[in-house]
Amino acid sequence: MYIKRSLSKELEIYSGVHFPCTDFTKTSHRYEVVVGIGGNVGDVRRRFEHLYFWIQRDKRVALLKTSLILKNPPFGYVEQEDFFNSIIVLKTSMQPKEFLAYLMRLEKKFRRKRSFANAPRTLDLDIIFFENRVIKTEKLTIPHVHWSQRESVVIPLAGLHK
Ligand code: AMP
Repeated sequence: MYIKRSLSKELEIYSGVHFPCTDFTKTSHRYEVVVGIGGNVGDVRRRFEHLYFWIQRDKRVALLKTSLILKNPPFGYVEQEDFFNSIIVLKTSMQPKEFLAYLMRLEKKFRRKRSFANAPRTLDLDIIFFENRVIKTEKLTIPHVHWSQRESVVIPLAGLHK
């Protein structure tokens, strides 16, 4: 079901059913958003597929593209399973704050448990870019902080434009 390729000793890329994919459906939603998705508890790649279907059915967002899935080691708290990460590009008419609340509800729906920083997680959803906006508030930093130094973001993102 997955095609696997090793990039290095620690990094592997997978392509699954809807990762990567492109959706050509027209949408009138206004803002293009790049969302980073990740997790390291249970069957994460299967959860990504569920998330794909959930987002596809939701009229408040329109899915444009998904990237490959990258398997990579944890950072921060390293005594935990490797992470799977991917990118979803979508359009929405929600404003950033409202969209963040939407993502947090989705994380909850997929039963993310918050315990401590960098702890194992079922599903982590981050706004990487929101159009070309720059936002720095207590609750929201866009572009996502450190995105350009994270292999988990940069590698899936680089493959999107092929
Ligand atoms: P984490 O536990 O690492 O997923 O962090 C979640 C918290 O990061 C949320 O409560 C947000 O308020 C905050 N945050 C700041 N900037 C962003 C962003 N660009 N995308 C998602 N969460 C963000």
